[in-house]
This record gives sequence, C-alpha cells and structure tokens, in this order.
Amino acid sequence: MKLFDVYPLYEVTPTIARDVWVYDKEGTQYLDLYGGHAVISIGHSHPEFLRNLNDQLNKIAFYSNAVQNPLQQELAREMGNISGLPEYKFFLCSTGAEAVENALKLASFYTKKRKLISFAKAFHGRTSAAVSVSDYAKIRSPLNNQHKVEFVKLEDYEGLERAFAKKDIAAVIIEPIQGVGGLDQPSNEFMEFIDKLCKKNRSCLIVDEVQSGCGRTGNYFAYQTKWISPTMITVAKGIGNGFPIGGLLISPEIHPSYGLLGTTFGGSHLACVAALTVINVLKKEKLLSRIPSLEIHFRDRAQEFSAIKNVKGRGLMLGLEFDFEVSDLRKRLLYEHHIFVGGSADKNLIRILPPLTIKKQQIDMLFDALKIIL
Ligand code: PMP
Repeated sequence: MKLFDVYPLYEVTPTIARDVWVYDKEGTQYLDLYGGHAVISIGHSHPEFLRNLNDQLNKIAFYSNAVQNPLQQELAREMGNISGLPEYKFFLCSTGAEAVENALKLASFYTKKRKLISFAKAFHGRTSAAVSVSDYAKIRSPLNNQHKVEFVKLEDYEGLERAFAKKDIAAVIIEPIQGVGGLDQPSNEFMEFIDKLCKKNRSCLIVDEVQSGCGRTGNYFAYQTKWISPTMITVAKGIGNGFPIGGLLISPEIHPSYGLLGTTFGGSHLACVAALTVINVLKKEKLLSRIPSLEIHFRDRAQEFSAIKNVKGRGLMLGLEFDFEVSDLRKRLLYEHHIFVGGSADKNLIRILPPLTIKKQQIDMLFDALKIIL
C-alpha cells in the first residue's frame, strides 16, 4: 500500500532530535526554528519529558474515559494555575482541530444558535466545523460548506456589527495572532469590541490558542494582553511537546452534562504526563520570562537587512516579511545552511516558531545565514 500523497515533502529525513537540533539519517545537524509547526515547546526529547513518559509507559499508557484518571484532574489544576484561569474547566482531546470542533459544538449547544463568525485568513483546522471557519476555500468540501459562517476582515468594526445583525450567532472564533494566515493580529480594541458584541448578543467568544498559546508569546496565552474574557480557549500543539494532545478551557458559565462531549483518546495517561511535564519545565526553567528579550534580539538583527520589509508577530511567534517570495530562500536555508523555518499563506513571509528554549546565538545563526544568501 502507498501513502495517500497529500504533503509536498522536503528531502530531509529526521531520525534524532535534541532540544533545538534535529539530525537526519546521515547525521547532519539542523537548527529547528520551526518546532515541527509550533509543536516543540520545551525542546525536542527534553530529559524530563523522556523520563516521565518512559516511567508512565511502564505503568499504564491508556485506559478509556470510563474510569478514574487522577492525572486528568492534576493536569486541569496545573493548566488552571499556569494560565491564570483556575475557575475555567478543562476538556481533553487529541488535536487542535478537535479542540476547535468541540468548542464550536459546545457554543451551539450552549446558545442554541447555529451561525458562526470568523475572520479573513483564519485557520482553525480541518474537521468539519473547524474547516468551515477557516478562510481557505480549497480545503473545504461541499459537506463542510453546510455550516453557516460569516467571514469578517480583521479591524472591520462595521462588518462585525453587520454579521451580528443577521442574528443566530453561536460563536465568534479568532486567533489572537494568525498562524497559517501569516501573523496578522487583531488590535486590543478590536478584540475588546468582539468580546463586547459577544456578550451583548449572548454569543460565545472562542479564542484559538492552538498555535499562539503555551507561552509562545511570553504570556501563557497571547490574548492575555487584552481586556477580554473568552467563553472558551482552544489549546494543542505546544502543550504536549510532540505528544498529540488538545484541549478546551471552558468558562464557568457553561455547565457540563454527561455525554455532552466525548472522545476515546483524549486525556490518556501518557498524554496527561506529557502535558504535565511541559507545564513543569516551563515553570522550572522560567522559559516564558526569557521570551521578550529574545524577541528584541530578533527584531534588532532583522534591522540589518534592507530586504526585510517588516517583522511580524510577537514573542517566539515571529515572521520576516521580505520584498520577494521566500520559497527559494526557505529551501536554501534548509539545504545549504541546515535551518528549518516555516512558511505561511503569505508567500513573502518566513515564519519562526522555535522551541521556547532557543538561545540568542541560535537566532544569530539564522541572520548569519541570511547575510550569506542575500
Ligand atoms: N488552530 C490553529 C490556530 C492552528 O494553527 C492549527 C494547526 N495549524 C489548528 C487549529 C489545527 O490543529 P491540528 O492540526 O492539531 O488539528
């Protein structure tokens, strides 16, 4: 049997990874400034991650959600503490799209409404409702298009009011910093306006922190620089450092009932240990407090280049916007300088989503390579 061929692949075969380094089968060392798409938070194969997962694997890896699993309660408590949202409740699943899908469904259950508002260039995953609120027509099938979604441009205050005027809005979903779309950010005022309209219309505000969360911007959640109180927050990617885990933080106004949501794999013993280890290492190694100075360093170095028009994003979710398309540049960084960086829907943008353990000297390696290439 062959693979169903849906991914264009680079000619690299990683076999081992440590911290910010990835090694291919020939032993060549690559600097990972992409973190496998914002997934590696505490560094590849962190010793504590390996130890804790191995220990757990030797006890029990998985049992269904029909029995007690104290690791889930511990994770919910730790997630509440690190995010500063101890009053929220936590639902565990396995991927970002699943977190979004459950958030949209729960919003509809709670409000008894059916329509959704999303934003231009948003990306929220590929399951049915999640892809319907993603602004990429090519990845939506006729089945997905059954959902009723209004797309509004970021900062379009009147557009948002018009969308609400159509009534029946179950939820507004927004990324505090767009990932796949290319690092555009809603202003504080716009986010606060969304929050106000959601409250006025009894609609849910869902903040998608799948990519921007887990401390990537220096705050545990990127939205936490704004005065808003989301009804739900979706998480995945970095919270498991490579172990598939997603989740949904749910504000106390929404009450659970048996059977309302569910999944087989969500919150397995191994997944909980992975996520607990990430939280523990973030705290122990004080990874979040280092991020502002790393961002300043990155922005300083970017100023040396006339070809860089703009530095986008925040914290360690950053992008270099060039005055030309970057696909060749990305290939040269990878094949000639052995540096992984990300792309986006914006063809002129290089995206940087490194492990949060990255050091200034490693950021310098990117700019030194760019100097040679450009
Ligand atoms: N939301 C956002 C903001 C994302 O960036 C992504 C993935 N790139 C998803 C949801 C979907 O996550 P997953 O691929 O784990 O389903």
